[in-house]
Amino acid sequence: MVKEIFVKTILNKHKKRDDWFLDDYSLNPYKSCEFNCIYCYIHGSKYGKHVNELSVKINAPALLRTALTKYARRKEYGFIALSSATEPWMYIEEKYKITRKCLEIIAKFRFPVHCLTKSTLILRDIDILQEIDKNAILPEDLRKINHGVLITISLSTLEDKIARIFEPNAPSPKERLETLQKIKEYGFHAGIAYIPTLPFISDSNEQLEEMVKRAKDIGADYVFFSPLTLYGVGKKIFISVLEKHFPELVPKYEKLYERKPCVPRNYSDQYFKKVMYFCQKHNVNFGITKLRITRGH
Ligand code: SF4
Repeated sequence: MVKEIFVKTILNKHKKRDDWFLDDYSLNPYKSCEFNCIYCYIHGSKYGKHVNELSVKINAPALLRTALTKYARRKEYGFIALSSATEPWMYIEEKYKITRKCLEIIAKFRFPVHCLTKSTLILRDIDILQEIDKNAILPEDLRKINHGVLITISLSTLEDKIARIFEPNAPSPKERLETLQKIKEYGFHAGIAYIPTLPFISDSNEQLEEMVKRAKDIGADYVFFSPLTLYGVGKKIFISVLEKHFPELVPKYEKLYERKPCVPRNYSDQYFKKVMYFCQKHNVNFGITKLRITRGH
């Protein structure tokens, strides 16, 4: 059951640009998400209590027009992340077309956009994305990117069997990679966020190297990697799924996430060392611009 809701604001302007995804703004046309990934950070966040209330923000395009009129007048151009807390191209988007209507407004005001998705439906909107890619005005310090559109497809594993457990309603990894392949054929600047990888499930040396190689084969312009974070209700939900499918890993996870929502330093140091090594070995960029890996990612 989808609720149609009217919201007061739609475009969040960040105090500081995101170092990784380069967005100055974020826009979530829906509340909650049909894909229902077990590891989704929404479960543990302040939005967690709404997780079962799938809603469409009916007045999102009208609010966006008002917000972009203001920011365009001030020439405060910056990448809009679409989206940071939901899937912009989930199944109900086929009917509501709210994301598409927002893209039309973004195109009109010539803002750049960073599409973060697991969906094949993004291909429906190639026409409007091409227009934005060509005409968007980039912030001065990001002009070198030379593209008004960034498209990042996210994956936690390349293996369908694992994805079916942890991303039960999302398109399969194979479908997502085929979507990325098509996006690259259209000439977009695009890459893969292997976020989150799952400790002891999708983070072996072989798996990480294969992820980098797959990105290389498709011609991805960049990759991101980051291990799972777990907190609040999200941790309980994740552990209950582990109990069913990987009971032997429960004590390991309890230990790994004993103190903090993120993995401990010894894990993350090793992890990023390996990932950077594989990226260098296969000549794949880590990040859209050169990234410094700091703790917490
Ligand atoms: S697709 Fe993204 S927003 Fe939706 S449930 Fe999965 S992780 Fe959460």
